[in-house]
Amino acid sequence: MSYEVIVIGGNFAGLSAAMQLTRARRRVLLVDAGKPRNRFSLASHGFLGQDGQAPAAIMGEGKRQLSLYPNITLRDGKVIRAQKEGEEFTIAIEGGGEERADRLILATGVSDTLPDIPGLRERWGRSALHCPYCHGFEVSGGELGVLANHPHSAHSAMMIPDWGATTFFTQSLFEPDEEQLARLTARGVRIERSPVVELLGDSPKLQAVRLADGRTVPVDAIFVAPKTAMASPIAEQLGCAFDDGPFGPVIRTGENKETSVKGVFAAGDAASSMHNATLASASGVLAGVHCHQSLVMPPAG
Ligand SMILES: Cc1cc2nc3c(=O)[nH]c(=O)nc-3n(C[C@H](O)[C@H](O)[C@H](O)COP(=O)(O)OP(=O)(O)OC[C@H]3O[C@@H](n4cnc5c(N)ncnc54)[C@H](O)[C@@H]3O)c2cc1C
Repeated sequence: MSYEVIVIGGNFAGLSAAMQLTRARRRVLLVDAGKPRNRFSLASHGFLGQDGQAPAAIMGEGKRQLSLYPNITLRDGKVIRAQKEGEEFTIAIEGGGEERADRLILATGVSDTLPDIPGLRERWGRSALHCPYCHGFEVSGGELGVLANHPHSAHSAMMIPDWGATTFFTQSLFEPDEEQLARLTARGVRIERSPVVELLGDSPKLQAVRLADGRTVPVDAIFVAPKTAMASPIAEQLGCAFDDGPFGPVIRTGENKETSVKGVFAAGDAASSMHNATLASASGVLAGVHCHQSLVMPPAG
C-alpha cells in the first residue's frame, strides 16, 4: 500500500506530527522503534497534562489515541533505509517490508554520549540528570553537582542554586572566565577543580563523587550535558543538510520544518538544539501541518 505520509519515529515529535495529518484525513504510516530518549527516567515532567507520568505511559497513550483514527497505520519497527525516487519515497523496515509515500517526516530523536566516568551511565535519568527544568524539583534541597563537559557547563552551574546547594566540577577542563567566576561566586556555587573519577552510592541513588585527588564530596544528584548524535542515519542517507548544534549535529529545517530535501520534514530533538518534550511536540505539530499543506499546494518548481 502507498501512503501519503510516512512518519519515522513515534514519540513526542512523531506522534504530534502524525496527529495533525491523521486529523487532516491523510493516509499515514507511523513506524517507531520504541526507544525514546527519556526512557531512562521513571517520570517525565513539565509536559502539560502529563506531569509525573512514566515516559512509556505518555507514549502509549499517544499511540492509543492515534490508533482510534481509521486512516493511520501504526507499526513497531526500525526503518533501516530511506530513499527518494523521483517525487516518491521508499523506506525499508528491519526484518523485511518496503513502504512508499509522497512525504516523509523524520522524528527519530537523538542518542546521548556521556562522559566515560564509572557509575555515571547506570544513574542516567535517575540521579545523573540532563535538565533541571525536567528533574530539578524532585532533587531540590539536596547537594547538587554540575559536571563540566562543555563550554556551556558554567552557565548551567549558575542556574542550579535555585534547586539546591551547588558544586561545579570543572574537571580541570572548563575553567570559568573571570565574569563567570564572579557570577558563580555570587550565586554561592562551590568550585572543585580536581576531576570527578567515580560516582558512589547504592545506584541508581547517588551519595557522593570521588575526586582524582582522593577526596569524596557528598552529592545527591549531578547534572551533565551529554554530547548528542542522530539516533538514526536516515537523514544522512537522504542527503539532508545538518547544522552544528552546541551538543551535536542538528537536521537543518526551514520555519515550515522542511529539510534541505524537498518533501522531507523533520521535527523534535533531531532538528533542534533545544531538547524538551513540549518543544519536540510543538515542532511535530508544525511539521505535520506544513507537510499537509505541501500535499495540498506543492511548491512550484
Ligand atoms: C533521561 C532524560 C529524561 C528526560 N526527561 C524529560 C522531561 O522530564 N521533560 C521534558 O520536557 N523533556 C525531557 N527530556 C527530553 C525529551 O526526552 C526529549 O526532548 C524528547 O523525548 C524528544 O522527543 P522526540 O520525539 O524528538 O524524540 P524521542 O522521544 O527520542 O523519540 C524518537 C523515537 O524515534 C524512534 N526511532 C529512532 N530511529 C528510528 C528508526 N530508524 N526507525 C523507527 N523509529 C526510530 C525511537 O526509537 C523513538 O521511539 C529528557 C531527556 C533525557 C535524556
